[in-house]
Amino acid sequence: MLAKWDSAKEFAIFNLILSTLGLRIMQKKKTFGRREIFRAAGAGVLTAALSNCQVGISSGAAYRRPYSRRPWVAPRISTDNVIREVVGHRPYRPSGFVVKSEQFDEKTVVHNYGHGGGGISLSWGSSALAVRETIGMTPEEVGVIGGGVMGLTSARLLQDAGWNVTIYTRDMARHTTSNVAGGEWGPYSVHDPAVSSEAFKEQIQFAARIAHHAFTSLGGRDYGVRWTELYNLSETPPEEGGEFEHLYPYRTDLQPGEHPFPVPYARHELTMMIEPAIFLRRLIDDFLQNGGRFVIRNFNSKEEIFALPEKIFFNCTGLGAATLFDDTEITPAKGQLVYMPPDPDVDYLTIGGGNGNLYMFSRTDTLLLGGTFKLGDYSRNPEPEETARIVTEHQRIFSGFA
Ligand SMILES: Cc1cc2nc3c(=O)[nH]c(=O)nc-3n(C[C@H](O)[C@H](O)[C@H](O)COP(=O)(O)OP(=O)(O)OC[C@H]3O[C@@H](n4cnc5c(N)ncnc54)[C@H](O)[C@@H]3O)c2cc1C
Repeated sequence: MLAKWDSAKEFAIFNLILSTLGLRIMQKKKTFGRREIFRAAGAGVLTAALSNCQVGISSGAAYRRPYSRRPWVAPRISTDNVIREVVGHRPYRPSGFVVKSEQFDEKTVVHNYGHGGGGISLSWGSSALAVRETIGMTPEEVGVIGGGVMGLTSARLLQDAGWNVTIYTRDMARHTTSNVAGGEWGPYSVHDPAVSSEAFKEQIQFAARIAHHAFTSLGGRDYGVRWTELYNLSETPPEEGGEFEHLYPYRTDLQPGEHPFPVPYARHELTMMIEPAIFLRRLIDDFLQNGGRFVIRNFNSKEEIFALPEKIFFNCTGLGAATLFDDTEITPAKGQLVYMPPDPDVDYLTIGGGNGNLYMFSRTDTLLLGGTFKLGDYSRNPEPEETARIVTEHQRIFSGFA
């Protein structure tokens, strides 16, 4: 697997690849435990009738926030305010995402797919590992298959390393799963730790550190990346440590009575919000400005890909890898999001706090409520009962703001 550098020279070359993005990789500091925010399967559906009552702009002024000096402001959540319901399919593999090269006669394929619920977060790191597979090759023409976040970040790193890149894709980024993502920096729901190997667990740590480091140097409006507060809400005291604990600064565990949420515990930390629409658009601009080319194309088999003139391809097709490269493990994890108009007064995110995989992300383009995690479900329709559950549960979460 790809968890370690083979030599100091490789490490130096790889750092050079990343330096155009202002990135530097730090060597591993320590090994961390695991933190599971999302429960990985089958959220129960609330059948309770959906109330139309609205939670107003009430503030949790009675409580002191651990970081911000402003009071907590409750989002305005009501069925009347739903502007859109969105469905996406996370490309989930219990054993984790695939980064490796494979030889097919004279054609080389570097796989970079299967990132489940954490592909935005892992993008730069996983793509850096994929590009590392080209060390020792002379940069020439390369084809990237897929124009989601993995295809675009792989393409940019390849360009920085001197390759001429063509992205062949069925869909431009705005029609991909990547554009549906909530966008919180959190590489969770990516693998099943009971199934994935130790080598994979090292690989995800490595990819997460590189990606996190990359995003910290892309902060600001241009790339749609900013730091924000996150509250993890739970019925039981949160675990010590956690899989990516070191990447979440300002962690404070609020005890019962110290916060306005309707659960006993609220873990506060800082995270990054990566707004997918802005980020993906900017990646496309960067790709084109560096001489990149898009070809809109749907492939029905890998043989159709191998008929192209390039000798090396990056497979960044997400769920598409199931049919193109016969991956029998990859499966969709259907997610459903409910969009409300943006609310600039809500300057934090929440995860948890009720039934299912709940989250509230306040973005500049929408106030987004999730979520759903339905394994094996390829259906594309928003389910009214899921919307009802997500809205009612979030109304309840913010109902106690005085
Ligand atoms: C509801 C939801 C919420 C999420 N929230 C977050 C979050 O908060 N944070 C986070 O980090 N991640 C999140 N994710 C996960 C993230 O969206 C995915 O992990 C990521 O988008 C996967 O990116 P990708 O580029 O591999 O795949 P995709 O975005 O699916 O792109 C695949 C590309 O391959 C192309 N393609 C596929 N098959 C073919 C073919 N046969 N021929 C030609 N082209 C093909 C497609 O057209 C597309 O361009 C969320 C996902 C969902 C659904």
